[in-house]
Amino acid sequence: MKSVSVFGATGSIGCTAAKILKHQSDKFNVEVITGGSNVLQLAKTAIELDAKHVVIADESLLNELQKHLENHKITISAGRNALLEAASRPVDISLQGIVGFAGVECSLIAARSTKTLALANKESLVCAGPLLRSICTEHKTTLVPVDSEHSAIFQCLQGEDLRTVERIILTASGGPFLNTPMHELSDVTAEQAAAHPRWKMGLRISIDSASMFNKAMELIETKELFDISSDKLEVIVQPQSIIHSMVGFNDGAIMAHMGPADMTGAIGYALNYPNRETLPLERLDFSKLGRLDFVSVDPNKFPAIQIAEHVIELSGLAGAVFNAAKEQALDLFLSGHLGFLEMSLVVERAINEYAKNSHNRTVTLDDLIDIDNSTRRFIQKNVKGNCHV
Ligand code: NAD
Ligand code: MG
Repeated sequence: MKSVSVFGATGSIGCTAAKILKHQSDKFNVEVITGGSNVLQLAKTAIELDAKHVVIADESLLNELQKHLENHKITISAGRNALLEAASRPVDISLQGIVGFAGVECSLIAARSTKTLALANKESLVCAGPLLRSICTEHKTTLVPVDSEHSAIFQCLQGEDLRTVERIILTASGGPFLNTPMHELSDVTAEQAAAHPRWKMGLRISIDSASMFNKAMELIETKELFDISSDKLEVIVQPQSIIHSMVGFNDGAIMAHMGPADMTGAIGYALNYPNRETLPLERLDFSKLGRLDFVSVDPNKFPAIQIAEHVIELSGLAGAVFNAAKEQALDLFLSGHLGFLEMSLVVERAINEYAKNSHNRTVTLDDLIDIDNSTRRFIQKNVKGNCHV
């Protein structure tokens, strides 16, 4: 039996992880599960998984959680410090499924105390890639990506020599607006943007997929995870979302990872790594699928990719600036203060501002928190009134 903790257990990643852990209950003991504010879901999952300890990040919901779990032998704690304390508990596998910058510190702490860090929180690599990797090296922690593209690349690279890699081709679904003319994008609503054609995910990552900010984050994530030079990275739209990414080698061979658009595959792989176990997900039927298409990314419609290339070039704290600006822009889009296309304008502005004074140096957690706060303030200050950048 392996011990596992799940951070962000009430979210899209967390719920899929819970499904797998129930399916493989003979293989895992659940130590800790955490949630933000969905008390009912958190309590239900804790009981179903027979978790030893539960953390609710929203402190005001502690009593409510206690009521739901009063007849169970499950210990409870609440608040940000409790979350970070839970991340420091030693386990075999720590699955990081918290969304946003809120998950970065948790990953950095967990990397010191877990044997395997199963990382869904891509913000950890985008904001703190070199720091996270150095902690993993120091503590001999195995870092296994959960993001489907990175899981695909990681699987294609098993047993391969990184020096023979000529190119890494990240695939994108293209999101709900792949075929929408650019002039129609300025007025799209959050609801339209969140309607992902292939993947069922949380609200924020779904909208990030529509703007391709998700792919932009993933480009940086790939660079940080595999330490590959940016001229070897490519993005191609694969609208059926069957090929989850590809790796090209120096002999011209290309390995493509295929599977259904279901995170059960990537999460199950990370939980069972280095083994493969039977997983509860649909099997592909190629006769029904018929074809696989490939489409180039339109840089005018989706400028996020080019901004990410600039971020990679800048390095240092640029990833943290990019993430904070993107998170803040998304909040402003959700509250109706920014149009869909304006999100990339404000993010670009924040990156250009950072580039004026940027210098490459070792990044600490305090630097990350400072730049995250100042970037959010910069965006708020520069977006005044409705839809003005
Ligand atoms: P989600 O919004 O569905 O769930 C997020 C989880 O984090 C919830 O449990 C929520 O309660 C918790 N949370 C949110 N804010 C918190 C805070 N301040 N403190 C503590 N907990 C907090 O998100 P998701 O779609 O499951 O995505 C989670 C992470 O995985 C993201 O980084 C996302 O980019 C990445 N990811 C998700 C998918 C997917 O299919 N959903 C795929 C690849 C990568
Ligand atoms: Mg992904």
